[in-house]
Amino acid sequence: MLQGTVFDIQTYSLHDGPGIRTTVFLKGCPLACVWCQNPESQHHQPEVLLYLERCTGCGQCVSACPRQAIWMADGKSHTKRNVCEGCGKCTEICLNAARILSGRVWSAEDVFTEIKKDEAFYRRSGGGITLSGGEPLAQAEFSAAILSMCKQAGLHTAIETTGMARWETLEKVLKYVDLILYDLKHMDPKSHQKYTGASNDLILKNLRRIRRNYTIPIVARIPIIPGYNADLKNIEDTARFIVDEMGSDTKVNILAYHRLGETKYDRLERDQSGVSITPPNAGQMADIQKTIEAFGLTVFIGG
Ligand code: SF4
Ligand code: SF4
Repeated sequence: MLQGTVFDIQTYSLHDGPGIRTTVFLKGCPLACVWCQNPESQHHQPEVLLYLERCTGCGQCVSACPRQAIWMADGKSHTKRNVCEGCGKCTEICLNAARILSGRVWSAEDVFTEIKKDEAFYRRSGGGITLSGGEPLAQAEFSAAILSMCKQAGLHTAIETTGMARWETLEKVLKYVDLILYDLKHMDPKSHQKYTGASNDLILKNLRRIRRNYTIPIVARIPIIPGYNADLKNIEDTARFIVDEMGSDTKVNILAYHRLGETKYDRLERDQSGVSITPPNAGQMADIQKTIEAFGLTVFIGG
């Protein structure tokens, strides 16, 4: 039985492809974007989210931890993240829900059973299921198993991907996919390396290869992150790339940075103090939309 790590399953999702969908968020990502709004998705193993404001300092979790990963300071518990293995024992013993485990191991069959519960909504709305993350290609066998069961059941399937994977890995998954939501974060390889931890070479190469070898529709998704990729040059370079390599009939989604993920860094006891991003306002998003539309593309704000 194939197993993988999932950190969220969202039902009634309206932003990850057509119609009403169930979006399955898989843990693990090969990139580490400075602006990541789901930092709990980056590591493969389950992780503890620490709600310090709920911690009474009782110390129960210290004795429960088999790895001696928890220490107390100023009447609150803290975690040695490089020692914690995500077993979840501290989350089970904490009566105040100050420790919550993000991510748990699922079988592909159990994920499919969960997905099937909303089948009637997918059929009525023209929806389906979307695998997101993290990066679904980081758990390619598990993703392929879920998608294959969905295809056999006649459900529409989509993946939201960074495209950062070996071609052989991509191919394992693509045979079960009806729609690809492909992230384009930065056109300049050096900036891409600096802000995400990897060059965009493989990502762009894979995108060209998908276009050549498959007829699966691709939606280009551009996160708009002021100070990082929202400058006119990068927006124009991205639009030009889409027209040249994907065709002017490609749909484009521009996704505004939001602050909802910022508290998650505190929950993960990660220092994000050096990063300060102001979300783009409606006027900036409309300007970016117009800039891309000038290349003949159809652009939607949001998913
Ligand atoms: S068990 Fe919960 S409340 Fe007690 S010290 Fe640990 S995190 Fe805090
Ligand atoms: S998840 Fe397990 S290893 Fe990590 S701090 Fe809690 S008890 Fe210790």
